[in-house]
Parts: sequence; structure tokens; C-alpha cells
Amino acid sequence: MSAIDDLPPLRDVIATHGLSARKSLGQNFLLDLNLTAKIARQAGDLSGSDVLEIGPGPGGLTRGLLSEGARKVLAIEKDARCLPALSEIAERYPGQLQVIEGDALDIDPLAHLTPPIRVAANLPYNVGTELLVRWLTPPTWPPFWQSLTLMFQREVADRIVAQPGSKTYGRLAVLAQWRSDARIVMSLPPGAFTPPPKVSSAVVHLTALPAPRFEADAAVLSRVVAAAFNQRRKMLRAALKGTAPDIEDRLITAGIKPTDRAEQVPLEGFCALAREVAKG
Ligand code: SAM
Repeated sequence: MSAIDDLPPLRDVIATHGLSARKSLGQNFLLDLNLTAKIARQAGDLSGSDVLEIGPGPGGLTRGLLSEGARKVLAIEKDARCLPALSEIAERYPGQLQVIEGDALDIDPLAHLTPPIRVAANLPYNVGTELLVRWLTPPTWPPFWQSLTLMFQREVADRIVAQPGSKTYGRLAVLAQWRSDARIVMSLPPGAFTPPPKVSSAVVHLTALPAPRFEADAAVLSRVVAAAFNQRRKMLRAALKGTAPDIEDRLITAGIKPTDRAEQVPLEGFCALAREVAKG
């Protein structure tokens, strides 16, 4: 029996189902159920929420979410080898765990979820950042989710919460802080995972704001910020050339010095610039 439920410990689950970790799927598993329950607690009060979990693997975080009282967990997993292990969890929590096999980048989970919805995941970082950007940039706000509780490489987590003027400030910080409160809530050493990755990890908790901090069109803001930080060492008048005609005038109208670099511009400045660029 395990620490948080009457299912077998994760080492036994992995041995029974032959779930040797695959590098190609970014598989670094969390086997300590006390730790996965602790991560689940960072996601907030789950008892009245459906939880979307991406990449459950052998189910450590899934079990944490269910033992912490999630109303329902919808889990999307790309690796079919994990499905029998996840079925055993579904049997232990009747009607509370639904598993979809597939790539989370291709699946729209909303038909299977009832608001309020929270998201929790321990994902390979490239899939994680791609999904994070999608979750932060829908055309309308508030989004389908109330909160996101996501494991990232420490360096990516630092980029999400970075402030202007720092080397890690960039597109992720602007998009995350525009429409949510983002905090690092846990740090994990490589040894917390099996197999251990090369770098440390951190859990970031993002709470959706009722409305964006400043008005801007999501697609335009995304485009402007990507262009500005793609050439972050250049002055903005050069980095943003080609983004819109007369970019120097638009920068000035937005209250930004055309000779500044992207990392000097606060969120409010990027939103003002996106509004200027959207004028066409
Ligand atoms: N949640 C488990 C844990 O914490 O132990 C597994 C974490 S492991 C870092 C990442 C999981 O995401 C793996 O199970 C992997 O198969 C799955 N995965 C990778 N890419 C995926 C994708 N595009 N869509 C859905 N699942 C994916």
C-alpha cells in the first residue's frame, strides 16, 4: 500500500506494467506520492473543480490530485503503455478519472470538462511552454481555466515570473503576467525524479485574473513581444522593423524610447505598443 491511497507504490506499478522511462517522451517520473500530493495541494481547493492533467504517465500526480479530493480528473497521455496503470486508478476512483490517449497539442479537452476547471501537469518542457502560451493567449478572457499548476525546468519557471530589466525577462513573462498572477510555489532537485533530469525543476502556479491588466489584442501582443525579444540585444526600432509601418512613431506614441531594448519595457509599455500596432 502507498502513502496516500490503497493502490500499489509507483515503483511496483512501473515494474508490473514495464514502464521504463523514454527520453523521446520526456519521461522523468515522480515516484514519491507524498510529493505528488503536495504538488496537488498547490493547485488550490480541488473538491469543487474538474482538473485537466496533461501527461499523467504512471499516475503519480493523478493519484495526488484524486487523493486531494478533485471532483474529476481528465488525463491526456501520449504513451499508450501507461493506459493499464491509469485504468487501475480509474477503478479505485469510480467515475472520477477519465483518460484520453493522444497528443495534448492536438486534443481539445473542453467537451469532457465542467467548470470550474484547474490544470495540473508535469510535462516535457517544450510541450509545457507551447501549451502555456496557448492557454495564455486565447482571443477572449477569462479563459476556460481558473488556475494552472505546472512543473517546468527551473530556468523556464524563472522566465515566467521574471521582471523587466532581468536577463530572463521575455515573451513568457509578458504573456503570463499580462493575464494572470504567476508564482513559483515549489522547487525540486533532479533527484526527485526517476530517472533524474540534468537540471532542477520548479512548480509554477498561475491564477487567471478576471480581466487582463492592460488592454491589448492577444495575437498582436504575442507577435510584437516575440519580435522584440527575438533580437533582444537590438534597439526596439531595429528589432521591430517589419512589425508595422512607422514603428518608430508608434513606439513614441506608446511611451517607449525607440532606442530602448526589449528587456527594459514593462508589461504596460508592450500593451500600449500592441494597441498602436493594432491600429493598422
Ligand atoms: N505526470 C507523471 C509524473 O509526474 O510522474 C509523468 C511526467 S513525465 C515528465 C511527462 C509525461 O508526459 C510522460 O508520461 C509522457 O509520456 C507524457 N507526454 C509527453 N508528451 C506528451 C504530449 N504531447 N501529450 C500528452 N502527454 C505527453
